[in-house]
Amino acid sequence: MMRRIDLRAAATGGAPVDYRAAVPRAELDVEAATHAVGPIIEAVRTRGLDAIREYGEQFDGVALDDVRVAPEALRRALDELDPAIRAGLEESVRRLRITSAAELEHDVTTDLGPGARVTHRKVPIGRVGLYVPGGLAPLVSSVLMNAVPAQVAGVGSIALASPPQKDFGGSVHPTIMAACALLGVDEVYAVGGAQAIAMFAHGAGSCAPVDLVTGPGNVYVAAAKRLVRGVVGIDSEAGPTEIAILADETAEASFVAADLVSQAEHDPMAASVLVTPSEQLADEVLVELDKQVFATRHTERIRTALTGPQSAVVLVDDLEQGLAVVDAYAAEHLEIQTADAAAWAARVRNAGAIFVGPHAPVSLGDYCAGSNHVLPTAGCACHSSGLSVRAFTRSMHVVDYSSQALAEVADHVVTLAEAEDLPGHGQAVRVRFE
Ligand code: NAD
Repeated sequence: MMRRIDLRAAATGGAPVDYRAAVPRAELDVEAATHAVGPIIEAVRTRGLDAIREYGEQFDGVALDDVRVAPEALRRALDELDPAIRAGLEESVRRLRITSAAELEHDVTTDLGPGARVTHRKVPIGRVGLYVPGGLAPLVSSVLMNAVPAQVAGVGSIALASPPQKDFGGSVHPTIMAACALLGVDEVYAVGGAQAIAMFAHGAGSCAPVDLVTGPGNVYVAAAKRLVRGVVGIDSEAGPTEIAILADETAEASFVAADLVSQAEHDPMAASVLVTPSEQLADEVLVELDKQVFATRHTERIRTALTGPQSAVVLVDDLEQGLAVVDAYAAEHLEIQTADAAAWAARVRNAGAIFVGPHAPVSLGDYCAGSNHVLPTAGCACHSSGLSVRAFTRSMHVVDYSSQALAEVADHVVTLAEAEDLPGHGQAVRVRFE
């Protein structure tokens, strides 16, 4: 089912291994996908709604006159929502609000002497565009993961986009609409993929440009975020899902297999990677996968993901080497299913989110842990963070000095300005004391 990559000394001859090059990756990467989405972004920038309609027809099989979802339709979807789904959404929102409120950063004021004060002020982003995937599955949970931290941060203007659904009259999926109504998000567009990201960045139709685009998506969505970065801010490149599991002989093979399957279910391009020093566990997991993949609903999609070049069982000599491998991989989701799991988790440097021990499957984080499921992929976890309330604020230094406090450092400013051959800078201080 999954190929094996053997990094044990016996297989490599003990030669040093470049783990970044050795870990499995998808054939179509974000850089390659930018070639496909570049023209889409340019078309939306120059032709606006007309281009969005054309791409909706091409990719989603839906041609809409008006891509904005009527607020009454959102309210109706909430009225018609299955109470059990509503209860699940409400619990997820409750937990996300608690963590978001706790993680919100506050202003920090530092006194550097009498009359010399610098404040690090946090300000919410003015307007954000939230992307919610809806190609292969309607990710209602992504509405919450995007919108709750944005709201807790105090963002004033929120727009949300998700692909139009052929089976639902070309509108956004009803469960996604209901979640928007539940959270009071009423500016919703039935637009998917790169055209949605371009609409947020450049504005189109009734959608005014935003300051920040957040949210997960497939490789085309991630590529579009890469291309608009700079025009707008982005959270991270949160593309096709990845799970890496660092496990030893104490792990339960059926749990490991179920978790690999759960994330492969997202996308034929999703990556499932098991890193283990236990050949016996690897064998047991492969047997379990054969059983579980055929017993689940999206067998073909999962099998494609698990047999793709992006998925593998990686054999290592010990957990120490396993740790080096998972750090080099920088998985979106990293599960630690070993003895002393918390101790190993504490040593991980690169991961979007870490799930510790046998009772914290990634599925918990996908919906209801209180953590955020919008996470960096394709190795970006070594420089980017998962979405949180902090992504929805900016900070600015506010400099407040009295005349006396300025006099304290005036000579230093003048000297440093001369050293940079910028005498006008020094004069701007001197003039205040002449
Ligand atoms: P999606 O909404 O991300 O993408 C659907 C859109 O992709 C379509 O509307 C279309 O516009 C565009 N598209 C499809 N084929 C295209 C092509 N050939 N060229 C240009 N555009 C094209 O929905 P999806 O496809 O179901 O993908 C959801 C993705 O989100 C999965 O890859 C999943 O793993 C990922 N995900 C990531 C995270 C994260 O935080 N990293 C979280 C949840 C889900």
